Amino acid sequence: MLKNETLDKFADLVLQVGINLQVGQGLEVACPTSKREVAVAFTRAAYKLGAKIVRIRWSDEEVERLNYECAQLSALTNVPKWFVDGKMDLVKNGFCYVAISAENPKAFEGVDAVRLSKSAKARAIALKKFSNEVMSNGIRWCVVSVPTLEWAKLVFPTSSNPESDLSNLIEDTMRLNEESPVDAWKKHIETLNKRANFLNESKFTKLIFTNSLGTNLSVGLCEDAIWLSAEEVAKDGIKFVANMPTEEVFTAPHKDRVDGIVKSALPLCENGTLIKDFSLTFKNGKIVDFYAKEGYETLKELINTDNGTKRLGEVALIGKNSPIAKRKVLLYNTLFDENASCHLAIGEGYPTTVKNGANLTKKELTKKGLNNSNMHVDFMIGTPDLNVVGVKENGEKVQIFIDGEWAI
Ligand code: ZN
Ligand code: ZN
Repeated sequence: MLKNETLDKFADLVLQVGINLQVGQGLEVACPTSKREVAVAFTRAAYKLGAKIVRIRWSDEEVERLNYECAQLSALTNVPKWFVDGKMDLVKNGFCYVAISAENPKAFEGVDAVRLSKSAKARAIALKKFSNEVMSNGIRWCVVSVPTLEWAKLVFPTSSNPESDLSNLIEDTMRLNEESPVDAWKKHIETLNKRANFLNESKFTKLIFTNSLGTNLSVGLCEDAIWLSAEEVAKDGIKFVANMPTEEVFTAPHKDRVDGIVKSALPLCENGTLIKDFSLTFKNGKIVDFYAKEGYETLKELINTDNGTKRLGEVALIGKNSPIAKRKVLLYNTLFDENASCHLAIGEGYPTTVKNGANLTKKELTKKGLNNSNMHVDFMIGTPDLNVVGVKENGEKVQIFIDGEWAI
């Protein structure tokens, strides 16, 4: 577990750089009951920074598992109004939102995939209005992770002290060991911004991914697609970083212009179940065939969730020498693994990855090629030998990645 002093630094960093908490602003923290001390540290740090009030939304994996297993299906898929209203209240009252993820990646292993998927889908539909606000930066939000023993054992199975190893990794990749983590993050954000600027100036219309695993995928980009990195600007004009750590530069694929085959580079942990060695085949943007060595049923449920889960909503580039990638461990946690590898997401695209997208209607965004879904699930495709070529409208090609690393 993170030491108390580190935890205070961690909370302060996330509040300052992550959500950029303003004096007089309200904060909600979603936190598992097993990590009560983290919620306390965030509360303390938020008041030091001048928060108006701090509210904690507790969750408990053991209770959730029992619900998934035993609750009546009709009740499991009935999302209470107070839950939805509570989320919308955050937007209405100008709160910002931190989600503390402290998962046991296998928490829901063995639970009926259909019950899990139906419940996730019902929640996604009920929270659609809220997630639209989140996806278009109507609220400043940040997702971070803290270690749990179960998670650590999975990441470092042969270690004598896995929790401490995982804590070290998190401290390192969160840059908490730097003299000023806040300044270190400002420098890091600048580097990522430079790459995003280059990609934006290049105005690529598609990217071609190839590697020796068998990936050969052409990803057309949305009309007016823009590349974003760590720092985003919320609707209120205040900057924030939605994921910490983050190493990615990402944009919006065109929902109808993806063709070829892509092979997974890392397993995908979906609803507490691992999907391993999978591939997706696309034609005109749509998944027309798929395969998984393990977790096939979970992948099938995911792809069949709605029309948008058969298409892509995000394409992201991360070099193999990023601090997370260099550790060469699978974290079984999307927040980290997506920052260790180039990735794609099936499902909802971010309106903010289209020029002026936060102010466009769904219909206008769809016309530009942005995908629409109730889900957004990242999966990793970056291998050490991945090549990425950018193609401009006039056919000019630029090598963006050589052997898994930035070439620009
Ligand atoms: Zn991403
Ligand atoms: Zn994503």
